[in-house]
Amino acid sequence: MIAKVIVDVPANQTDRLFDYAIPEAWEEMIEPGMRVVVPFGPRKIQGFVIAVATDSEHDKLKEISEVKDVTPVLTKELLDLGFWLTEKTLCYAVSALQVMLPAAMKANVTKTVVHGNCQNEAATWHRMVANGGVKWDDFLSHFSHKELNRAIKNDELEVRYDVKEKTAPKTMLSITSVLTPEELSVEKEKMGSRALKQQEIMQYFVDHTGAVSYKELMGTLDTTRSTIKSLVSKSILKEEEVELYRDPYKGRSFKTSAPLELTDLQQQVISPILESIEIEKHETFLIHGVTGSGKTEIYLQSIHRVLEQGKEAIVLVPEISLTPQMVTRFKSRFGSEVAVLHSGLSRGEKYDEWRKIHRKEVKVVVGARSAVFAPFTNLGIIIIDEEHEGSYKQEENPRYHARDVAIKRGEQYRCPVVLGSATPSLESYARASKGVYKLLELLKRVNKQEMPSVSIVDMREELRSGNRSMFSNELYDKLKERLEKKEQTVLFLNRRGYSTFVMCRDCGFVVECSHCDISLTYHKINGTMRCHYCGHEEKFPTKCPECESEHIRFFGTGTQRVEEELTKILPEARVVRMDVDTTRRKGSHEKLLNQFGEGKADILLGTQMIAKGLDFPNVTLVGVLAGDAMLHLPDFRASEKTFQLLTQVSGRAGRHLLPGEVVVQSYTPEHYSIEMAADHDYQAFYQREMVTRKQFGYPPFYFLAMINVSHEELTKAVDVTEKITSFLKENLSPASVVLGPVASSIPRIKDRYRYQCMIKYKVEPKLHEKLREIQKHFSKEISRGGLQLTIDTQPYMMM
Ligand code: ADP
Ligand code: ZN
Ligand code: ZN
Repeated sequence: MIAKVIVDVPANQTDRLFDYAIPEAWEEMIEPGMRVVVPFGPRKIQGFVIAVATDSEHDKLKEISEVKDVTPVLTKELLDLGFWLTEKTLCYAVSALQVMLPAAMKANVTKTVVHGNCQNEAATWHRMVANGGVKWDDFLSHFSHKELNRAIKNDELEVRYDVKEKTAPKTMLSITSVLTPEELSVEKEKMGSRALKQQEIMQYFVDHTGAVSYKELMGTLDTTRSTIKSLVSKSILKEEEVELYRDPYKGRSFKTSAPLELTDLQQQVISPILESIEIEKHETFLIHGVTGSGKTEIYLQSIHRVLEQGKEAIVLVPEISLTPQMVTRFKSRFGSEVAVLHSGLSRGEKYDEWRKIHRKEVKVVVGARSAVFAPFTNLGIIIIDEEHEGSYKQEENPRYHARDVAIKRGEQYRCPVVLGSATPSLESYARASKGVYKLLELLKRVNKQEMPSVSIVDMREELRSGNRSMFSNELYDKLKERLEKKEQTVLFLNRRGYSTFVMCRDCGFVVECSHCDISLTYHKINGTMRCHYCGHEEKFPTKCPECESEHIRFFGTGTQRVEEELTKILPEARVVRMDVDTTRRKGSHEKLLNQFGEGKADILLGTQMIAKGLDFPNVTLVGVLAGDAMLHLPDFRASEKTFQLLTQVSGRAGRHLLPGEVVVQSYTPEHYSIEMAADHDYQAFYQREMVTRKQFGYPPFYFLAMINVSHEELTKAVDVTEKITSFLKENLSPASVVLGPVASSIPRIKDRYRYQCMIKYKVEPKLHEKLREIQKHFSKEISRGGLQLTIDTQPYMMM
C-alpha cells in the first residue's frame, strides 16, 4: 500500500504529492487526513496523507516512519477545501492544510547531533557531543557544515530528529466504576450495614455515569481519598487518567435564556432562513440590520432549528467583538453545546476547544476567522456577524477570506450562510442587490428606540475660536451634563493613523524609524519612541536632529493623554481606560467592562476595542474624538471604513430606555462618509460610494490582485516588479489594467524596499495560471531568502 503525502516544507519544489510505502503493520490503519512523519532527504518531517493507493509510478519507495494520529484530523471535505484554498489563494498546499488545524498541532522538529557508530575519541567535538548529544545549531556554531558532513559520512556522528508536539493534553486522575449500575447495586446489597461510606460512593456511581475526579467526589460526598481507594483495591472502582479540558468558561454557570418571541419584522427575516434549513438548500443571506435590530436573536433561533435537526452551526464574530457579553449570549442559550475559539485563549486551550469539536462533543462553535474551518461533518448553518469586518481576511498565507470559505462549505453541506451587518461591505451589498445573495432588511430597532441623534463638530472652528483642547465645547458640556445626571459616556479614540508622533515645532522635522519609512511612536511610560513595524526603539531626543532646536515635542493623542486631560477638566469623573496597555493581562478586558457595567465608572475611554458589541443600558452619550482619522489613509476603502466605524460607535448609545446622543469631532466634517453616518443613511452612502468605485475602477466593479515585492536592494525590488508588470501586461487581456511598478505606501520596512503591482480586471480566466508562473519563475530567488514575493488575490491591506 502507498500513501500520497503532502510534506511540511512550504516551498515551490515540494508543493506536490510524494509517494511513501505504508509499512505492513499500519496498512489497515492509515487513512487520508492523518498526519505522518516521513523521511525526506536526510531529515524526518511531518506530512499529511492525502490519499492511499495500491500502486505508484516510482519503485523503491521510502517507508512512513511514524503515524501521528489515530483518527484523521482532516476530513475528506476539509482536504478538498484545502486544495480549493490552494488554488484560490495561490498558496502551498501544506499551508492550506495547516491553517485548518490549531497551532498547537504543528510539529516542532528539533535536530540533535549525536555520536555515530564508530566513535572517534580524538575528534575535537568528541566531548561536546557526549552526554546525549548537542543541538544542531550549537554544533554548527563551533564547526562547519563540511566537518559535520564528513563526520556523518564516516559514521562518527548522526543527526537525530525529534518531532515534538508543543502541547500535550492535560490529564487528571479520575475514578470510574468497573461494574455496571446493576452489578454495583448487587454488591452494595451484599455489604449489608457495613462500610456505609463505601456504599454511599457506590450509590454515586449507580446514579452517575462517566469519570469523576477525586477532588469532586470527595467534595460531593464528604468522604476521604482512602475510602475511595479501598473500593479501587476491591476492583469495584478504577483509577483512570482522563483528559482535562482547559475550558476558559469552566466553573461559571450561565443562566439559561429562552428564545424571545420574535417581532413581526424579525419573523419576516428569519422565515427564509428557516426555510433554507428545512429544505436543505444552500443560499447566502445578507441581513442588513441596524445595531439593536435583533440580528443576534435571529442567529440564535436559526441555530436552535439546526440543532433540532441534529446538525451543527458555526458562528463567526470579529476578534474584537468576541467579548464575554457576546459569548454569554450563546452559552446561556446552548450551554455546553458551545465551543469558543478566539485569540485570547492559550494554544492549549484552543487545542482543547478544537478537540471538543473534532470529537463531536459540541454542536456550536463561536469564534474568530479560523473557526470557519471547524471540523464539523454535518453543518446546518454558518453565520458571519459584522460581515464587513476586515479581520475576516487573513493577511498571511493562505490569504483567504472567511466569507468565501463559508460559502464554499455551505454549498458542500447544502446549508444557509447568513451574513449580518449594520453596514454591509460594498461587495456584499452589491451582490445582494444583484440577487446573488438574498437581502433581508431589519431597519428598525427592536424596542422602537430612535437611532441616536448625531452632531458633527468642526474642530477647525474650535481652534479658530481659541479652544486648543482636544474636547470641543459641545462635547465638554454634554460630558458634564452626563455626570450630573449620573448617566454614562463612551469616549472613542481612533488610534489608527493617529498615533503620537514626534515633531520639531521649528522646522517640522518628524522623527522616523531608521529601518522603515514610518514615523516613530512616542511611549510615555519609558519615554522612548518605538517603531510599530520593526520594534526599533530610540530615546526621546532633547534636540531636533535636523535644526538642533529644542522645541521638539510629541503630537497626536493617545488614550493616556485623553485620560490625563479628562482628569484635568472633569476631575470628578471616574474613567475606565481600555486599550492594548490596560488589557494585556488575561481577563483584564472583562474586568474593566464589568466595572463600567456595574456603574463604578462614568466614562469608558478606549480604542477600536470598544467600538462594537458592547451593550450598556446607562450609556446615553458617545463621543468620537477624531472622526476622520482614517479618512486619509492610502486605501480605496478609507471612506467605507470611516462610515462603518462611525455607525458602529454611534450604535453604542441609547440602546435601551434612555435616548442617546453622539458627538463626532472632525477636521473634515463635510465629508460624505461622516455626514451620511450622522444621518444613519446607509443607502445614500452606498449609492455615493459606488459612484466613486466605478469611476476609479475598484471593487465591486473590478476585481483586484496585488503583488508585493520586497528586497534589501532597492534596484532589485524595482527590477523584479518591473519584470512582473511587463509580463502581466503582455499576458493578460487588454481589458485588464496592470498598474506598476510603484513604491508601496510604506516604501521600506525593516530595511527592505517594497514595491507593488496591482491588477484590476473584470474577467481574466488565465490570471491564476499566470500568477503561478510568476511564483515559479522567482522561486529560486525566494527560497534563497533574498527576495520576498506575496500575491494577494483579494487584497484588503493596501499599505
Ligand atoms: P443586534 O444583534 O442587531 O444588535 P440584538 O439581537 O442584540 O440586536 O438585539 C438588541 C436587543 O433587543 C437585545 O437586548 C435583545 O435581547 C433584544 N431583543 C432582540 N429581539 C427581541 C425580541 N423579539 N423581543 C424582545 N427583545 C428582543
Ligand atoms: Zn522600523
Ligand atoms: Zn527642527
